[in-house]
Amino acid sequence: MKAIVIHAAKDLRVEDRDSEAAGPDQVEIALEAGGICGSDLHYFNHGGFGTVRLKEPMILGHEVAGRITALGSSVSGLAVGDRVAISPSRPCNSCHYCLKGQQNQCLNMRFYGSAMPFPHIQGAFRQHLVAESWQCHKVADGVSIHEAAMAEPFAVTLHAVNRAGGLLGKRVLVTGCGPIGALAIIAARAHGAREIVATDVMDGVLELAGKIGADRTINVATDPEELSAYGTNKGSFDVMFEASGNERAVRSGLEVLAPRGILMQLGLGGDIAIPQNMVVAKEIEIRGTFRFHEEFGLAVDLINKARVNLKPLLTGVYDLKDAVEAFEIAGDRSRSMKVQIAF
Ligand code: ZN
Repeated sequence: MKAIVIHAAKDLRVEDRDSEAAGPDQVEIALEAGGICGSDLHYFNHGGFGTVRLKEPMILGHEVAGRITALGSSVSGLAVGDRVAISPSRPCNSCHYCLKGQQNQCLNMRFYGSAMPFPHIQGAFRQHLVAESWQCHKVADGVSIHEAAMAEPFAVTLHAVNRAGGLLGKRVLVTGCGPIGALAIIAARAHGAREIVATDVMDGVLELAGKIGADRTINVATDPEELSAYGTNKGSFDVMFEASGNERAVRSGLEVLAPRGILMQLGLGGDIAIPQNMVVAKEIEIRGTFRFHEEFGLAVDLINKARVNLKPLLTGVYDLKDAVEAFEIAGDRSRSMKVQIAF
């Protein structure tokens, strides 16, 4: 089978790998769609992010869906031919954090396509994937496999909504409208947000943000005063989903968050300066949110029941042999939202 392997920054190869056979509790899957994530792009463009560096070749990919081709001897509830979205979250279920129900903080996490541990955890961008049966969530008839492959990034934003607490009736600000910001808009809308304002520095992505559920979009590069107007009377927003990782977005967001507002940080921007006095005086809560676990099933359920429509995010599907081109285009925000590979 073919797999998409990153060797170093800008050195991405489509290579042959041996197929594996399913164990008793596993299934074999012919992969159909795989979405390129921001973290895949970090490996492609920079060979890693933060302190995480590639130390050996690694198969990329963790946003995947496909069709079951074989079942292990103990698997029940799944059948050959089923289409499934595959959760890349593989916690150990026995460490301190797993036993507390915090599987996303697992000490022995084997999340697909991650260079955090060494040896690296190989990813799912391969034609033939062997997964645990509990990773597989059935995709309903009529749902496109491409939408199913977006369950993973959608689950990231559902976890962020869970971390934020209830959104019913809340005023929400989303800063950064790439795939995660866009999915945060959809997640917030599905969870009862009263008003959603979205910001970015590119008109193209803001147009999409408006189509998928933002009540108002603001280009903070050309019209920053439109956002600062929300700072009247100490601020207007109850919850902010920060998906840009940009220092200016964090600072301007803190100015328009209402007292006791919550800043949910999804974007990874490294070390930035925070106006501490404003955090203190307005009693702002800054909360991180990382990956997901049980929200993956919810994501698939919401997609299956057409309670959400993620299809507008898909801007391109590329053949496996054109993987390098797909990664280059996926990294160009002026042309791409979510880019997927067809396996
Ligand atoms: Zn664990």
